[in-house]
Amino acid sequence: MVDIKNIRASICKMGKLLYEKDLTDSSGGNISVRDGNLIYINPRRSGQDWQWEIEEDSVIVTDLCKVPVVGEVDMISREAATHYYIYQNFPDVNAIVHGHPFFMMAFGAAHMDIPAVSEGTRAVVGMQPITNIAEVVPGSIEQAEAVVKNFMKRREIEPGCPLICNIPFHGTFAAGANINDAFLYTEVANNCAKILIYRQIMFGNDPKADFSIHKQFTKEDFETIGVSKEVCTPGYVYTDNAGNKIIYGDCKNLSSSDYSEIVKRVTDEVIKNLKNR
Ligand SMILES: [Zn+2]
Repeated sequence: MVDIKNIRASICKMGKLLYEKDLTDSSGGNISVRDGNLIYINPRRSGQDWQWEIEEDSVIVTDLCKVPVVGEVDMISREAATHYYIYQNFPDVNAIVHGHPFFMMAFGAAHMDIPAVSEGTRAVVGMQPITNIAEVVPGSIEQAEAVVKNFMKRREIEPGCPLICNIPFHGTFAAGANINDAFLYTEVANNCAKILIYRQIMFGNDPKADFSIHKQFTKEDFETIGVSKEVCTPGYVYTDNAGNKIIYGDCKNLSSSDYSEIVKRVTDEVIKNLKNR
């Protein structure tokens, strides 16, 4: 579990998760979190020297222009420019994950967009394909500018949408309201890329294979996923916790004293069960 209240601990934990889930490798990856006017960012070579087993004390804290508050400026991640450019341009972003996700990189190595086909990408990241920036020197100002430009284009198409892009032959950047979101975008996008690759390998030559999406859900459709739903249809007969036969939704003949009696019986039963534990 990631403790997002402890920012330094959350960066250490997320780095380990990224590494263990093949969402980055020992050659790179970096994570930062914004807290007010401070930026927390992992030290350079976290993968290469530490295989992402970094200590909380190694996380560097700076202001919004990379001036250190805790730690040394020369130890800040080599990809820092892209992180700071994103924070300066997107006030709603509070966490950034740069990874080297294996399956997304396969698309990047072919300059191919990643269409949204999985539930994760369609519902979480959105319907826009994940696109590539131009080839740039890793860690350069050109990379920072290109990632910001890519994110702005995504927001032009869909205001407020999640931010993620691919970098050819290199990796990805994802930015969210918190570190969990930035990690989530990276993981679901990589899973989507994995599905596309496996589907092609397994069924690419099968004339019976149908790769089309038969039903396009709207954003509003996906928002209903989190809405609590009735799980029984009225008239369903079941036995309740107290052993009574109940007809679900059949309350039309109950008086207020009946309701009180039911509430009392259920309360007594729950208290009895709790005492017996
Ligand atoms: Zn990298």
